[in-house]
Amino acid sequence: MVQRQLRGRGIHDENVLAVMAELPRELFVPAGVLSHAYMDDALPIASGQTISQPYMVARMTELLDLRAGMRVLEVGTGSGYGAAVLGRLGCSVISVERHPELADTARARLAALGLADAVRIVVGDGSLGWPAEAPFDAIVVTAGAPRVPAALPAQLADGGRLVVPVGMRARQELTLVIRAGGTFETHDCGGCVFVPLIGEGGFAEPAGESAQGRRRRWFGRLLL
Ligand code: SAM
Repeated sequence: MVQRQLRGRGIHDENVLAVMAELPRELFVPAGVLSHAYMDDALPIASGQTISQPYMVARMTELLDLRAGMRVLEVGTGSGYGAAVLGRLGCSVISVERHPELADTARARLAALGLADAVRIVVGDGSLGWPAEAPFDAIVVTAGAPRVPAALPAQLADGGRLVVPVGMRARQELTLVIRAGGTFETHDCGGCVFVPLIGEGGFAEPAGESAQGRRRRWFGRLLL
């Protein structure tokens, strides 16, 4: 995976390559797709979400230009794999996930890997960032947004970097925002396809999902 999919495609940050070479991706994928753990693809996980393609995890992490000790916000914990990469790079990470069940599973995985102190997983709408703990040296959004979520650039420290896929639901441009004092430089870094960022700074919740939520709440009341 590292030689062909990452180094072979131009990932050159040796720290990112070393961490992804030793972090077992199979611990982050469901049993049904275990044999695909090192394939060049995003894979389905619970709650209709995905664990991102290894190349995309490496590319986004490299664009953040991280050093040990940096404070990083990840929006979209998913399986916890991306958060584990950030933690193994020596960063202090807050990772926000909107699905509590994904957050719980990821938390258990990271604890088993000894990363519970390095990575704090919280549940909420990460499209608003995590203002209580701002500023961050880096912010990575692992879901596609219709525009750069308005709350995020202001939560960067001076010199901080934000990476976020921006575009339509079906396809986005990987976008890098670099803060220099009060100004924000934006760079396009290539096409990508991510599940949608759902929330105030993202897309509206799909109608089907809220209907399902309503059904769950209704049955929940019945069972009580
Ligand atoms: N980094 C993840 C990994 O390594 O498995 C991949 C995450 S997946 C591509 C995107 C995640 O973003 C999903 O788990 C989804 O539930 C989450 N998400 C979408 N909108 C969100 C929001 N507003 N706040 C927090 N998480 C969100």
